[in-house]
Amino acid sequence: MASLETSIIHQTLENENTGAIVPPLIQSTTFKRDDNGAFLEGRDIYTRASNPNRRLLEKKLSMLENGTDAACFASGQAATMSIIHSLGQNSHVILPDDIYYGTRVILENLYKNWNITFSIVDMSDVKNIEHAIQQNTKLVWVETPSNPSLKIADLIEIAKLCNENNILSAADNTWSSPYFTKPLDLGIDIVMHSTTKYLGGHSDILGGVVIWNEKISQQKSQSIRDYQTIGGGVPSPSDCWLLNRSLSTFFLRMEKHSTNSIILANFLNNHPKVEKVFYPGLITHPNHDIAKKQMTNGFGGMMSILTKGNEQDCLKIASKLQIFQHATSLGGVESLVDHRKSAEGIHSVSPENLLRISVGIENIDDLLEDFSQALS
Ligand SMILES: *Cc1c(COP(=O)(O)O)cnc(C)c1O
Repeated sequence: MASLETSIIHQTLENENTGAIVPPLIQSTTFKRDDNGAFLEGRDIYTRASNPNRRLLEKKLSMLENGTDAACFASGQAATMSIIHSLGQNSHVILPDDIYYGTRVILENLYKNWNITFSIVDMSDVKNIEHAIQQNTKLVWVETPSNPSLKIADLIEIAKLCNENNILSAADNTWSSPYFTKPLDLGIDIVMHSTTKYLGGHSDILGGVVIWNEKISQQKSQSIRDYQTIGGGVPSPSDCWLLNRSLSTFFLRMEKHSTNSIILANFLNNHPKVEKVFYPGLITHPNHDIAKKQMTNGFGGMMSILTKGNEQDCLKIASKLQIFQHATSLGGVESLVDHRKSAEGIHSVSPENLLRISVGIENIDDLLEDFSQALS
């Protein structure tokens, strides 16, 4: 069997007979029935329920995560909602302390009436999770590396703990991508992505996905599927088509993100104007050993740094950078820096001198030169 890198490039639509090398875009919202009014075997009925471009995307994303099935959504947030929605009222959830802001807001704002409560713990020590388990704990939600301090959580240990306690485990794998971490292989029950980031890779498509394997119950996977097809927060066929194209260069892009990142991390780590670098690939990272154990092909394209000086000095560095654009978001081919404190607003707990860096796939010498001049 061909390798994953090859297979991803060669997947095409089911029931496709035009001979097109590139999968055609099927915009039609509705599909033909047979003479008896029945739906044609293996064909689609209505695009909210299923669409050829979306099914191809779900197949490819499942392959990338070693899952058996997937449900694509119009955004990462909608994908997260499908998991939270499946928990039911009066559930308790355990979240990491530096969780993606939007996930916490979903629980705080949208599920308040459901009496869903949550505890926030530092997941770099699994004991903290164990201590937070309550009788009604239904879900442990993990992000590794975490945002923005790049903490690493031990997915094998967390999966084991959740299994023993009959709690669903879900990993937001947006930052790592399946190139660096495959949570399902480590025993985690469900993977979620904002495909807006590395899987899309070009900062031009919003999307999300939930991926699972046989380990979760039929009832759970059906609940997620129903949230998608009945709830209707689905991606458009054209977004699916574009994301399918992005996946053809996924391996190539991730390799470059990774090699650029380790060089930049080492450069910044040795720079006198930089106080600290958070990157799991550095041997000085507190969870480097766990990162080495559970990450493959490198340590990702995200890092954060603390610059010397105060907030103004830090913002000045961000504005002096020419190639690294000062903008929120991540995972695109272009390098970005983000001053998290100003991005997160008044409730931010990020240090005033922290810059989050999404390392792109540009020439590494240009990236080093850019930081050199901005820090000087
Ligand atoms: C961006 C992001 C999300 C939310 O995804 P959207 O596509 O913006 O809805 C969730 N988790 C992480 C880690 C993210 O970076």
